[in-house]
Amino acid sequence: MELVMKNRKAAVKPLPDFSALEFGKYISPNMFLAVYKDGEWNEGSVVPFANLSLSPAALALHYGQTVFEGMKAFKTANGSINIFRAQRHWERFNNSLDRMCMPPVPFDLFEKSLKELVQTDRNWVPDFEDGSFYLRPFMFASEERFGVKIADEYMFIVFGGPVPSLYAEPLSVKVETHFSRATKGGTGYAKCGGNYGAAFYPTKKAREEGFDQVIWTDSSDHGFIEESGTMNIMFVENGKLLTPALHDSILDGVTRNSLIMLAKQLGIQVDERAISVNEVRQGIKNGDITEVFGVGTAAVVAPIKRIGIEGEDFLLSKYSSDSIMYKLKNALDEIRSGAKPDLYGWNMVID
Ligand SMILES: *Cc1c(COP(=O)(O)O)cnc(C)c1O
Repeated sequence: MELVMKNRKAAVKPLPDFSALEFGKYISPNMFLAVYKDGEWNEGSVVPFANLSLSPAALALHYGQTVFEGMKAFKTANGSINIFRAQRHWERFNNSLDRMCMPPVPFDLFEKSLKELVQTDRNWVPDFEDGSFYLRPFMFASEERFGVKIADEYMFIVFGGPVPSLYAEPLSVKVETHFSRATKGGTGYAKCGGNYGAAFYPTKKAREEGFDQVIWTDSSDHGFIEESGTMNIMFVENGKLLTPALHDSILDGVTRNSLIMLAKQLGIQVDERAISVNEVRQGIKNGDITEVFGVGTAAVVAPIKRIGIEGEDFLLSKYSSDSIMYKLKNALDEIRSGAKPDLYGWNMVID
């Protein structure tokens, strides 16, 4: 089938080897682009993935009005494609945009962008066993102007590419008690580029000390756990699933939310509350805490094997397929792959 868009042919590129994918390396040949100007969105369309023409005075480059999402599409055994939790990603996208004084993207436009891109580049969506198609919706201030202001012009783009199904190696992480990712009243709950830029330096320092990532703590006295790197964090304590309650310095992860729902369905008790660094220290020492893991779209669960707290190392014992984190990951995979019924309406199915 030859796809024709606006009298233009869809771009084609040679497919990478799906059995040797690397996260973030391959981008499919097309993207979706819509423009906001004079108070409204144009209809947007799929265009070949290519460099943009952008003014050096585009406001986003200077004052940081830029927001993104990270989500995935999966090819099921019957050949249809599931886009996972599009509605919830869209809600979060608009919450982030609101915090950054950027105009909302209507659901129709968001949905259309995902569907049209995935349909156009559907042969770039790997079969479930080989991985998934990562979708990157994002928006930034494109208006040309060098005075500080809220922009009046924006671009909304979605591109994507095939990524491997990661089986993440257990990580060493450092509880960060000096730097902060997010502050009360700040932008921590928004998925905006600036949060990432600000996190690089402390993460680099932690790497120099032999850790893979940091565990962020609250910015006032660093006594409470918030997130793990660019993921939410979960613990298993005496068989219960424990995760920090949401507030404005914690990002409301879609994976976090999904795993909480699946845990409850599996009869696992879930506690969302404040978790102190001390509780983690004591819990690992006396064996109450048996699992610690990051949760996010990229890997679903990222096991943690070693936690550094103020110069002292706390080690978790080896994980097995009986670990609660893997039971949760499997439950999620079964829904995304279409192997089990989608009881919550999480999949947007594209034929
Ligand atoms: C994106 C992100 C997460 C994970 O969210 P998911 O929707 O599960 O992928 C967690 N923390 C931060 C800071 C993030 O940017």
